[in-house]
Amino acid sequence: MPTVRCPTCDRPVEWTESSRWRPFCSERCKLIDLGAWASGQRAIPGEEIKDEEEKEEE
Ligand SMILES: [Zn+2]
Repeated sequence: MPTVRCPTCDRPVEWTESSRWRPFCSERCKLIDLGAWASGQRAIPGEEIKDEEEKEEE
């Protein structure tokens, strides 16, 4: 059974029809995540703003 990690609390969530709130483990975690988005605490993946002081090493 494939599992994903809840983006909010990092717990494993089974990716099944019965996992209603996937990829979140619960409605609570989903609401927390949506709230984080709404308040600007999360960056959009791929839209990361590069800090000028950030160093990239290969
Ligand atoms: Zn969770």
